Amino acid sequence: FIQMKILLRNNDLNEALLGVSNVGFVPTMGSLHNGHVSLIKKSLRYCNKTVVSIFVNPKQFNNKNDFKKYPRSEKRDLKILKKLKVNFVYIPTKKQIYNSKKKIKIHLSKKNKILCAKHRKGHFEGVIDVMIRLTEKIKPTKIFMGEKDFQQLLLVKQFIENNFKSKVISCKTIRDDNKLALSSRNLLLNKKNLTKAGRVSRNLINFKKRFSNKMISKRLILEKKVELEKNYNIDIEYLEMRDKKNLSISKKVNSSKIFIAYYLDKIRLIDNF
Ligand code: AMP
Repeated sequence: FIQMKILLRNNDLNEALLGVSNVGFVPTMGSLHNGHVSLIKKSLRYCNKTVVSIFVNPKQFNNKNDFKKYPRSEKRDLKILKKLKVNFVYIPTKKQIYNSKKKIKIHLSKKNKILCAKHRKGHFEGVIDVMIRLTEKIKPTKIFMGEKDFQQLLLVKQFIENNFKSKVISCKTIRDDNKLALSSRNLLLNKKNLTKAGRVSRNLINFKKRFSNKMISKRLILEKKVELEKNYNIDIEYLEMRDKKNLSISKKVNSSKIFIAYYLDKIRLIDNF
């Protein structure tokens, strides 16, 4: 049995990946849960070697305090990764990542400034920046990303596949028994709010189910927003139905997803159904 290697420096990374083909890469910000695990298992299944990165990327946080209180649990993460028999864990410092000048210009078009791009200024520019840097260093054949962050998945896929040979593979959202999407940020919620967040998810899943093969008007979405805010005492940043392929506003349920971002006791949660 070959032990999992922990790589802290770019030199270690280069050495470890020298001559290795068909590399799978799972980028994470740590505090691993079964959503991450499902991505990692897919990579282990389809690739010769799997690299998991743990890097809480300061550049993608539009709020300093949010960065500070983002949950971190490196010891536990390493235990999980070891058990999964991941080949390499890359844990860089900020300096290791941002050691070179940006080579690719990152510009979000106006049509992309929707949902989280509209509400978190600079967030996706930070995500794309770090993903370009990680992809340059690791040169993966496949990158595994979750549908939980659907807008991120589409934007990163577009940028990475336009500039590199790597393919971005989308992976289904993993939920708990209450239908709440697993998220590292759930660690910041108390038990009562975890249950409440699960109810919000279930409500929207049932809402969409009720209208399958049908249309949902903008007005009906707005009524749903008001209802959820009132019934669950949450602050909804956005609730919108958009086309799965190009994220344009849509009424057709079958070809669309419902996107939500909301605050529960100051914790910001996102999901899509
Ligand atoms: P994060 O550590 O939150 O940056 O997430 C790392 C990767 O895991 C991203 O590609 C996420 O979309 C994915 N991910 C996070 N939560 C889930 C989930 N519940 N199900 C599937 N993938 C997820």
